[in-house]
Amino acid sequence: MSVSGNKKKKIVLTLLLGIVCFIIYLNRPDPEWTREYPATKGKTCTIFLIDGLSSEIFKEELEAGHLPTLAKLISKSMYTENGNSSFPTMTGYGFFPFITGAEATESGILGLRWFDRNRSDGNLRNYVGRTNIHMNEDLSDSIKNFFELSGNAYTASINTYMNRGVKHPIMTGWAHTTAKYEGKSLFKWLRLIPFYGEDIAKDHFEHESEVLQMSLRQLRKNPKVHWVTFPSPDAYNHVFGTDVKYHQLIRHIDSLIGVYVNEVKSIGQESDRMIAVVSDHGISDVHENIDFCKWMEEHTGLHIERGKSVHVLSSALDEPIESLSKKDGYFVINGNLTAYLYMKNNTFVAKEQWKYPLPAPMLKNYPAGNKMINIPELLTQMDGLELIIYKENPEEMVILNGQEKAIVKRIDHRLSYHVIEGNPLNYPDSLRRIPLTSYQWLQRTTETDFPNAIPRIWQLMSAKGIGDIVMTSRKGVDLANDYEIFVGNYKGGHGGLRKEIITVPYILYRPGHVPGKMNAMNSAEVGRMIKEFLCF
Ligand SMILES: [Zn+2]
Repeated sequence: MSVSGNKKKKIVLTLLLGIVCFIIYLNRPDPEWTREYPATKGKTCTIFLIDGLSSEIFKEELEAGHLPTLAKLISKSMYTENGNSSFPTMTGYGFFPFITGAEATESGILGLRWFDRNRSDGNLRNYVGRTNIHMNEDLSDSIKNFFELSGNAYTASINTYMNRGVKHPIMTGWAHTTAKYEGKSLFKWLRLIPFYGEDIAKDHFEHESEVLQMSLRQLRKNPKVHWVTFPSPDAYNHVFGTDVKYHQLIRHIDSLIGVYVNEVKSIGQESDRMIAVVSDHGISDVHENIDFCKWMEEHTGLHIERGKSVHVLSSALDEPIESLSKKDGYFVINGNLTAYLYMKNNTFVAKEQWKYPLPAPMLKNYPAGNKMINIPELLTQMDGLELIIYKENPEEMVILNGQEKAIVKRIDHRLSYHVIEGNPLNYPDSLRRIPLTSYQWLQRTTETDFPNAIPRIWQLMSAKGIGDIVMTSRKGVDLANDYEIFVGNYKGGHGGLRKEIITVPYILYRPGHVPGKMNAMNSAEVGRMIKEFLCF
């Protein structure tokens, strides 16, 4: 054999060895499977979270008889077609209400990415990629989640970063990534590797089936609280938009939940186990991806930093604030249809410039080169943006939509929508200038373009750490051109307040309770119902 033949043989053998080692690593033993826990006492609960479930497609599939498990579960459950997600409509962050009964804005984090002005480094709190581990650390200590409230009892979860206190958390990050980018970039080739390809690079169907198998093993240990995420609808929509495969994934998930529900019965947990099927947000297809920072540079000369989309190599969040000394603002994207803008205050000394939120008068009179600009008003001229939201003062939030303007005011414990020009949320006359409770807002806006937007805007804009300006994109527009790795541009997203993104179904089966239908329910109410069932 020639020298180069030997060399080739060596390369192939090394590659094969690498693959085998990787498969062994992926299937490494997990001591949690055999660890013993005290017998679980009292009521138990399983929460299935279908990530990025379109309420319209869900309804269509349900009515066509394609979701037999969920149809049967609905007939025995408390059910609403108008579940209202947390805003921004984001994964992880949006899980908080389901496991605490408290609003996501009280969690201590403000989405999958936000900018913490009160740090000297790692200001961009970015939980996408390996830095996801920081989500639990950043959560407020004052609110205990249901895993923590379970004490010594066995609790389990699959695919949630928000897993503080879970006894047996499983993450299938690699399988999720290969499924998400199937057919894209290097993942296209991985699956083609003979014999091993399908093991190394699962598709969405295989990945979700694997998740189900692991959840069944956990179920047999009778977890007090069991969280199972099905991530594929969201991942598929981001990369490919909505097509027939999205529908098939929903059907597949229905069949998997069916297997789980049958197992609950056959191992005798039926009378104690509540089963909640929820989603964190809907989805919206996009056909235009805009570059906010470039637009700002061209129109104002201001330098706005966008930060990394994902941390693949390191879990460290340690970029020093000094690295932003030449920047004027920070643009933080969520989902990718909503974003926060944090501006620098040039009137302070260098080390204080990023520290404090900018009051409205400064946002409306911000130095850019040799002139002063009104940032919120300028943003209304940016084609892809829909709602521009900022705080006029602690009791008044401004909503702009093009030339239309309204103010959300708090009067005692009620909120009112004061239209100044036009009608930015396109609400009916009956909802203008009348102070309503959060419950009333939720119930009365389910059929509008922006269900429950008034309380959601109020909560977010009042949260500590929120950007000076919050913006959402118009239907069909994504705010993150050339942002994602592997695909460059997304074909679908979420994050905003529009009906198709914020409205999701909630199915809450509680053994021993009468079934019923509710007009609407917000995500924290789901958590409160679970809390009550578990007697926490
Ligand atoms: Zn997503």
